[in-house]
Amino acid sequence: MSENMKNIRVRFAPSPTGDPHLGAMRTALFNWAFAKKYKGKFILRIEDTDKKRQVKGSIKNIIEGLKWLELDYDEGPDIGGDLGPYTQSERSEIYLNTANKLIDSGNAYMCDLTPEELSKMRERQISAGKAPGYNGYSRNRSREELEESKRKGKPTVIRLKVPLSGQMEFQDLRRGIMKFDLSKIDDFVILKADGLPTYHLANVIDDHKMKISHVLRGEEWISSTPKHLLIYKYLDITPPDFIHLPLIFGKDKTKLSKRHGAKSIIEYKESGLLPSALKNYIALLGWSPRSDEEIMNQHQFIEMFDFEGLSISPSIFDPEKLSWINGVYIRSMKDSELEDLSYKYLQSNTSKKEFAAIDKSKLTDIIPLIKERIKSLDEIFPLIKFFFIHEMPSIEMLKCGNKDSSEIEVILQDVINEFENLVHSKDSRHQIIEQVLRKKNEELGLKLRDYLGLIRNCVTGSTISPPLFESIEILGLKEAISRLNLSLDNLKN
Ligand code: GLU
Repeated sequence: MSENMKNIRVRFAPSPTGDPHLGAMRTALFNWAFAKKYKGKFILRIEDTDKKRQVKGSIKNIIEGLKWLELDYDEGPDIGGDLGPYTQSERSEIYLNTANKLIDSGNAYMCDLTPEELSKMRERQISAGKAPGYNGYSRNRSREELEESKRKGKPTVIRLKVPLSGQMEFQDLRRGIMKFDLSKIDDFVILKADGLPTYHLANVIDDHKMKISHVLRGEEWISSTPKHLLIYKYLDITPPDFIHLPLIFGKDKTKLSKRHGAKSIIEYKESGLLPSALKNYIALLGWSPRSDEEIMNQHQFIEMFDFEGLSISPSIFDPEKLSWINGVYIRSMKDSELEDLSYKYLQSNTSKKEFAAIDKSKLTDIIPLIKERIKSLDEIFPLIKFFFIHEMPSIEMLKCGNKDSSEIEVILQDVINEFENLVHSKDSRHQIIEQVLRKKNEELGLKLRDYLGLIRNCVTGSTISPPLFESIEILGLKEAISRLNLSLDNLKN
């Protein structure tokens, strides 16, 4: 292990501004995998200094999402750690002290322009054909004057003094040397008028205080990195290494959103995805194992994860692939495992009444029937509901080729008779049911699809079901007969 791969400490630092989305969880996953691979530490830090954008409940959902994906962290707001607190709003004193230190060293200064004055200034800059950034209005004003202004109650922020020329460069461990023109960066705010830090200041201080060795974060933060490096420089502290992860786009190459079928992690949880499958899929968003084998468990991913495998160009979110991978994971589960998982899923995703109707012992027979057909757990209940709750098929569903309703009545009565015979003979195996129905169908000279379709519609109340003969065996011939009779009555009336 090379020297800089010892004492790995990485962090996932979400802002609680909404439910955790795929991009955020991808960042968490890659940080987690990197920490695991090098026996380092993975830290959760909540960056909640922008109170205006904070959304209630999102910290809880971020933690729930991480727990569901089993991205266990070693230090974090709810579990503590030696270098906490891990919620930025609890650390404001640290940021304030550092901001003042930066003023003392001449690398930052106060500014008392009100938001209205600032926007007027921006308008003036734009009409003069200049960039709309801050124009350095308070850069050379005296500290005394600005302190006086603050005492009088003017909203006062602290801005970093960015060199007017020169370049800031850093080596992104995947992308190589990246250079930024400092003249294009204005004197940005590091501490807001409410006394809270901006993202830039808090992020840098915490990465330093929490001894972060590598920052793996989304590409959208690249342009912030030179700002951060300047703060590191002014504070005379060594920055961590940086690796920026590619953007995630929808298929139309625009920023990923709900429109592209992307859901929040909480929604994925509810929609019946398996966390292991989602983890596998997210691993492939912007990283590749460089082989055709894309199905890998988390241990294999940890083993293979490296910076070389990261792509530089945006990755494209493909909901069909996610669903395919989920199907692969479902099919690879043991029947008993899938049975337990399905039962739990049904418990939290069906109504009380529906759940009460589910006979768990029947699931043992039902699950193998549907395992090959489903791609996510939310497809289970619609497929198996009929085993427990009978829904009458509509009259339109009582069709059989071009037969009229009196002919259909005869056909149904015939099926009922056949099933009655089977009940008497006490043989209800699906092979026997199949034999009987195929023979009958031949005698009647109907299209098998039409004939079985009619029976299925009556027995299951649905046009889609697991394999019919097995379904009838599990449901029980007596129940099937009673349902066929109900449809027959319906036709007669
Ligand atoms: N709070 C930032 C976010 O919400 C963190 C960015 C970073 O990792 O530096 O993504």
